Amino acid sequence: MVGNWKMHPTHLETIQMVQKLSYRLEPGDYERVDVVVAPPFTALRSAQTVIEADHLSIRLGAQNVSWEDEGAYTGEISPVMLAKLAVTYVIVGHSERRELFGESDADANRKVAAVLRHSMTPILCVGETAEEREADFSEEKVSGQVLVGLQGLSAGAVESSVIAYEPIWAIGTGRTASADDAGGMATFIRGLVGDQHGGAAEGVRILYGGSVNPGNIAGLMAKRDIDGALVGGASLDPDEFASIIRYFA
Ligand code: PEP
Repeated sequence: MVGNWKMHPTHLETIQMVQKLSYRLEPGDYERVDVVVAPPFTALRSAQTVIEADHLSIRLGAQNVSWEDEGAYTGEISPVMLAKLAVTYVIVGHSERRELFGESDADANRKVAAVLRHSMTPILCVGETAEEREADFSEEKVSGQVLVGLQGLSAGAVESSVIAYEPIWAIGTGRTASADDAGGMATFIRGLVGDQHGGAAEGVRILYGGSVNPGNIAGLMAKRDIDGALVGGASLDPDEFASIIRYFA
């Protein structure tokens, strides 16, 4: 379960949010679920410090990364820098990066490779717009994003990666894909990975994202090919995010 905190908390608010989330979780929760928070870059060091000091099992995620390790790239953050901050997951190709900042499938592919090169786990985001859905283009859009996003990776690399299916029309809108639709697309994605990368399809983890909340998470998680969720708005509230993480309770 990944909380994408987007451009919301300051580093001080992040410390409080991490602590509040940890108070609401029990040791057994971490055995069932990998819990990840992805605060803004400016809060990663603070989050890392509180996680280490309090011996928390919460994992640290980043929301973006450069595909370059270092160099004259003003404003970019390299995978080397993230790895040094004990970041273990990196969100790549989120629809807001694609739609608002022009990131392409090829960019996502280079970022996925960079993340893996530094022994972190990419969370490759894919999903269709409302118009594409209406035009019955969802599978075509998603398959292009998955195929290019994972291009050139070994089966082992694919197996250790995460793919998040996030229909763009469901992000931040309060409109969730039905569990059947989300589960169907997750199954489609796993099949696609199987066609391209063989047995890696069994290991790759597939998340659903798009207005996930404590009321709809159990239905989504009941789907065979949905392994978790990428949560935006609801993850900003520690009570709500903890309820989502504890969907099985
Ligand atoms: C997201 O940004 O990845 C997301 C799924 O947001 P929300 O949960 O707010 O729809």
